[in-house]
Amino acid sequence: MDIGFIGLGAMGRPMAANLVRAGHTVRVWNRSPGPAEALAEIGATPVREAADAFAGDAVITMLADDAALRAVVLGGRLLEGAPPGLVHVSMSTISVALARELTEAHRARGVAYVAAPVFGRPDMAAAARLNIVVAGDGAAIDRVQPVLDALGQKTWRFGEEPYRANVAKLAGNFMLVAAIEAMAEAAAMGERNAVSAASLLELLTTAVFTAPVYQSYGAAIAARRYEPAGFKLALGLKDVRLALAAADAGGAPMPVASLVHDNLLEAVARGDGERDLAALGDVALRRAGLDGAR
Ligand code: NAP
Repeated sequence: MDIGFIGLGAMGRPMAANLVRAGHTVRVWNRSPGPAEALAEIGATPVREAADAFAGDAVITMLADDAALRAVVLGGRLLEGAPPGLVHVSMSTISVALARELTEAHRARGVAYVAAPVFGRPDMAAAARLNIVVAGDGAAIDRVQPVLDALGQKTWRFGEEPYRANVAKLAGNFMLVAAIEAMAEAAAMGERNAVSAASLLELLTTAVFTAPVYQSYGAAIAARRYEPAGFKLALGLKDVRLALAAADAGGAPMPVASLVHDNLLEAVARGDGERDLAALGDVALRRAGLDGAR
């Protein structure tokens, strides 16, 4: 297929590379030019304007947040120039409100809009092992299914209304930060009672909480290893904000999300925004008087 790819950050770079390797024609655009030039070495075609990527059979956006998607797609008036039949696969983690707004904007211009946020860090993206939550018009999803298959291990369909995929993604990321907070508080309690965080988290993530999320973040918390950032803490804060906004709009209290939101703010205020999300664990550890990150 002829695919445009917009947003070549930690996630977008390996995803675009996998599309090239799967035999698709891939035009790539990024705000800063370096990542697009690097992908040219494996056969992608860098384009100068985002509008040149917003063309072909499908275009994927994998931008940081609402502001980035707004600036590039709406600010850049990309919908106005979209060719007939193009499917926009929107894979960033964005707000439910923006997902609804984009759905309407695409409908008004006759462009198919599919929401497809993902679970999995950059290493999973590189291995084409993402779990992709997808929602939108069924026929449009069918058309881009080969693209999704080249990016992930499984596509989870959440119906015809795109925003529902974003709701599911935000719920998952809320549970992720809650898990990190829980492990960090347990580790702090252990350390203050002569049980090392490493042995405690190894036990708990092997015997009881065996999900990959617990194991990978548990190991990072125990080692207080927050660099390089696979998933930036600032993006985790963004996701909790979005979950709280959806909770507010839907009338569902999320007291744990409110607490973790403040802890993430504290981490950002201390300069940890560009570190890995695992650095959230340092908030609980520091409060227990334990040393800073290694
Ligand atoms: P990232 O490494 O920070 O990359 C962000 C991308 O957005 C870059 O291409 C950046 O361009 C671009 N961007 C930011 N602001 C922009 C603006 N105003 N205008 C144009 N482009 C802009 O983020 P990432 O980790 O790849 O994450 C991308 C999305 O996937 C996010 O929504 C994130 O929440 C979600 N996600 C991430 C993970 C993960 O583990 N990393 C997992 C699942 C989902 P520049 O290169 O020019 O800065």
